[in-house]
Order: sequence, then C-alpha cells, then structure tokens
Amino acid sequence: MIGDVEAGSLFPCKPTIHFHPEIVTCPHCGAKPEVKKTRGKTVVTLDIGAFIAKETILHCPRDGTLFVSEQLRALVERDLSFARQDNGDSFK
Ligand SMILES: [Zn+2]
Repeated sequence: MIGDVEAGSLFPCKPTIHFHPEIVTCPHCGAKPEVKKTRGKTVVTLDIGAFIAKETILHCPRDGTLFVSEQLRALVERDLSFARQDNGDSFK
C-alpha cells in the first residue's frame, strides 16, 4: 500500500497510511517494546496531501518509555503551518 504513494499525487479520498515505530529495542534498558495503542488522525502535508495516519504507539514494559513513529513525526514537522500547537506558544 505504501509503495503506491507518490509525492504530489492527488487522492480522490484520503488514503490510510500505517506508521509503526522504527525502534526494535528500548534504548534505555534493551527490553522489547510492546504495543500500547493505535491512534488515527488526519494529517495534511504539502507533499502527498491529506491522509489518515494510523499510528502504532509502543511502550517499554520495564520503564514505560513511549515510542512513536519518527517517520510520521518528520512528515508532520516539515509542515509546521499544519501543526497543532495546543500550548499557545507561537513560532519565533
Ligand atoms: Zn526500557
């Protein structure tokens, strides 16, 4: 599915893209992270338009560290104008 996504493509309806943390072991203790939950949200980027990101969130069973997909975060952060800032900070 993800192989069909091309930069600049316009979709008639929003595709769903799954993101999974790239991490294999916890950098703190070496334990194997477990799936905590999945969440879906609509993301808009200039590159590939709007899509629904289904994100798997992992957590370390020993120390509780949360792991999210760096790929998804990088996609979103490249388009800061679309980032939701809930803490009221303004960009300088
Ligand atoms: Zn850990």
